[in-house]
Amino acid sequence: MRAWIEVDLGALVRNGARLVARAGVPLLPMVKADAYGLGAVPVARALEALDPWGFGVATADEGAELRHAGIRRPVVIFTPLLPADLAAARAAGLTPALGDARSIAAWAEAGGGPWHLAVDTGMHRAGAKWSDVGALRDAVTRCPPEGVFTHFHSAEDDAASLVEQTERFEWALAALPFRPAVRHAENSAAIVRLGASAWSVVRPGIFLFGAGGGDGSDGPEPVAALRARVIDLHAVAPGEGVSYGMRYRVAGARRVATVAAGYADGYRRAFSNVGRAIINGHRVAVTGTVTMDMTMLDVTDVPCAIGDVVTLLGPAPRTGGTGRAEGAEGIDLTTAAREAEIAVYEVLTGLHARLPRVYVGARDE
Ligand SMILES: *Cc1c(COP(=O)(O)O)cnc(C)c1O
Repeated sequence: MRAWIEVDLGALVRNGARLVARAGVPLLPMVKADAYGLGAVPVARALEALDPWGFGVATADEGAELRHAGIRRPVVIFTPLLPADLAAARAAGLTPALGDARSIAAWAEAGGGPWHLAVDTGMHRAGAKWSDVGALRDAVTRCPPEGVFTHFHSAEDDAASLVEQTERFEWALAALPFRPAVRHAENSAAIVRLGASAWSVVRPGIFLFGAGGGDGSDGPEPVAALRARVIDLHAVAPGEGVSYGMRYRVAGARRVATVAAGYADGYRRAFSNVGRAIINGHRVAVTGTVTMDMTMLDVTDVPCAIGDVVTLLGPAPRTGGTGRAEGAEGIDLTTAAREAEIAVYEVLTGLHARLPRVYVGARDE
């Protein structure tokens, strides 16, 4: 294989277990966007070990994929469905999130079934405005929701916003003629910040997949690694440069390795000249512009050969005892994204393009 994504299902489940312990309620893991690029079906199957309440997706197709794979738990579609897609959702036994009287009536007309009421407490993306929920009394009496939820807009960096949004959510709940059985609000950052949940289930995404939600020992275990092989090696003389635009010029003689992954694999162009990689236990730098299919590294002082495995993102491969240089344990996703000035969510969800996924650490291994 020239390049691949390694997904550690054991680490995934351990991250999930930590969230269950912290929140004290079952998970509703968000496996939308193919589980942030890591593979919705294998990820959902592995998380079954934690007895989650159900799973969260963004589209009816994503939900149908889980159903075809034999996932039986509730699957909530969190992105508003177009009226034309309600029948498909119902046929696949999925649970839509609805936030207005017209869609609630359309859902009942399509045959109905469990649904969750989306309450907008300030993000202004989807759902019924918290202060208008009372206007839905008739609709929810005719077709009662199984669940009700809201979504935090700034859980990572604004604790006061959590308080305000929670107050608005409680206000909305009080305006309903009854309390739906399943109430939820927290994403990963809110679970990390708030601890024990006041609600029935929590909805983590990014923490499960090894990023976000605190640094150091509080942070999640890494789950995903992007690995690619060295496919070319060459000497660069002083005054020469590397890659498109010659954005990397060398002062002294350098040795450069070309690895078989580029931005078409999801190794973002933003890593040009700022990315780091691990090769044979050494930390090295990306030189020049990341190209569509290949990326160059400065390996001047590092022994390496064609075919060697490079870690562009995530933990380095286990070495079986031979020492690694300081700082060569891996390329932390969150740090790498910050250095490249992109959201770690984009790094992960961008990764699925052309790369095979290799699953390790499953329970029955
Ligand atoms: C994506 C999403 C989540 C998960 O967010 P993370 O920050 O990845 O934990 C939770 N709830 C909703 C509605 C979402 O869309």
